[in-house]
Amino acid sequence: MTTDIVSVTPGASPLILSMPHPGTGLPEEVAAALTERGRQVEDTDWHMRQLYAFAEHLQPSIVEAGLSRYVIDVNRDPSGVSLYPGQATTELVPTTTFDGEPIWLMPPDEAEIARRRRAYFQPYHDALAAEVARVKAAHGFCLLWDCHSIKSVIPRLFPGTLPTLNLGTNSGASCAPEVGKAAEAALGQTGFSHVANGRFKGGWITRHYGQPAEHVHGIQMEIALSAYLSEEAPPWRFDAPKAGKLQAALASIIEAALDAATKLERSHS
Ligand SMILES: [Zn+2]
Repeated sequence: MTTDIVSVTPGASPLILSMPHPGTGLPEEVAAALTERGRQVEDTDWHMRQLYAFAEHLQPSIVEAGLSRYVIDVNRDPSGVSLYPGQATTELVPTTTFDGEPIWLMPPDEAEIARRRRAYFQPYHDALAAEVARVKAAHGFCLLWDCHSIKSVIPRLFPGTLPTLNLGTNSGASCAPEVGKAAEAALGQTGFSHVANGRFKGGWITRHYGQPAEHVHGIQMEIALSAYLSEEAPPWRFDAPKAGKLQAALASIIEAALDAATKLERSHS
């Protein structure tokens, strides 16, 4: 079982793909504290690297977490503040599955959470921040695309069935308006059910790094797993024919956002 905290593949373009939740790695001491169900790491963003293989022609940088979000969630505010106050969500160190099932035999205390923040949270963000700085130095700006997927039916988190494509720009704050509009226009053309800034508005990564005044345009894409898996259940099998149509849609949205960001940033320089 891998315990790589983060892997970085530097690219030649202004596009960075951040993948905070595809990891299934569990450090030994964390695995020992999890329930049998917790060790199944069911709330993983499955096959993210395979899904985004289509983006190779865009020469993105890829920053990918290797550890499970159950160890510590690198897409949550490290201070512990909720992403969605007043709504059900999962915490910096989740205490349950999305469905509400307990995952710990021994829930981590504050000291243990602080240790995981230093040991596992910080390295992901050191790597991502370094990549953002490198890409900005090379191109003057970057498009940070935060890649996610989730089961389309989770009654504890949202009613009914989630749209296939859920675009989040922190309600417009994480990227320039031109970039957000271009992405939303492309989103509307895909033929998939979709929403912008609906249940998922962008997690901590989108909100923290997405600073258009600093020439960093952050967009989160939350995808219903049903769009590229055989079923939303173990063994979480990737369905390549199904994924093809989704990949074409994702390419069109990313390209539209990248074009808009490039035009905008060139007009500034
Ligand atoms: Zn995710």
